[in-house]
Amino acid sequence: MSDRTGRHSLPSPGDTRSRSHPRLGQHPRTGQRFEELRGEQVAYAIHRQERTFLPDRDHCPLCPTRPGGPATEIPVAAFEIAVFDNLFPAFRSPHGASEVVVYTDSHHGSFGTLAPERAQALMWVWRHRYQELGARADVQYVLIFENRGVEVGATLHHPHGQIYGYPFLPPVPKLELAADARLGGCAPCALLQKELDDGRRVVHENESVVAYIPYAARWPYEVHVLMRRHRASLLDCQAAELSLLAESLQTVTRGYDALFSRPFPYVMVVHQAPTDGRFSDGHLHVEFYPPLRTADKLKYLAGSEQGAGTFVGDTLPEDSARALREAIARVS
Ligand SMILES: [Zn+2]
Ligand SMILES: [Zn+2]
Ligand SMILES: [Zn+2]
Repeated sequence: MSDRTGRHSLPSPGDTRSRSHPRLGQHPRTGQRFEELRGEQVAYAIHRQERTFLPDRDHCPLCPTRPGGPATEIPVAAFEIAVFDNLFPAFRSPHGASEVVVYTDSHHGSFGTLAPERAQALMWVWRHRYQELGARADVQYVLIFENRGVEVGATLHHPHGQIYGYPFLPPVPKLELAADARLGGCAPCALLQKELDDGRRVVHENESVVAYIPYAARWPYEVHVLMRRHRASLLDCQAAELSLLAESLQTVTRGYDALFSRPFPYVMVVHQAPTDGRFSDGHLHVEFYPPLRTADKLKYLAGSEQGAGTFVGDTLPEDSARALREAIARVS
């Protein structure tokens, strides 16, 4: 699908900040700036303010275009999985990429309620996008993710995820690579073994995949889903492993929904090897960060989390794991 991002022109450069702060005004109004104090990049995409906000089904841009109906983002009457450039990109060529991945042409449902074959097909779509975006010189890291629920900022209800191709290696994957160096080998491999030996926090496992609430989970119901065997990325997985990954991810999300008998908001991210030439440095895993701590209370990132970078938890991972395991058993 063509890149339609050019449709959204940026505001004129004559804004007051540019005039009163000439040094800032010399910088482009999109792209990234380096935050010296923390040593990290901050990306600006000011046109994102214009995004469609929680439209109803009749105005959903991710639904197929119905014959005689208004044009949506997807100019076909039916589809299985659709991928296209984000109309409101955080990153775009030649400085990265932002894509939308629509899981189904049905407006309702969720990742967890997709037919198993569709979830499996999605793993192949992820694999393909990782390969294609990762091969680009302007993409150093490919992050596949889903923000589910208004609690984590989703602006469209239609089941979908996103992919960002970062033109730099972001801090979180950088920290994970540092853990490999600190532990003198693959950190996810070592952590997985510890979790399997302990067993109290494992919530689901099959022949190829293990899901657990990590020993030092930051979110009450944070779950990490790891490939049992060392696989740097989706590209290294066999077909059966991709199917079992899909099965595990759906089991976790269905368990989440059963936990409090409500749609369970989460951020889901896929961590893989960076694509800056180090395609082998990583261990494919998926992390879920759900903001709920009870059926109706959210965990907020407040003083300690934001100001010190230290999470303070009010539930123990072992207790959360027991509750989530029971929820998964109810829907399996
Ligand atoms: Zn829709
Ligand atoms: Zn490993
Ligand atoms: Zn990770």
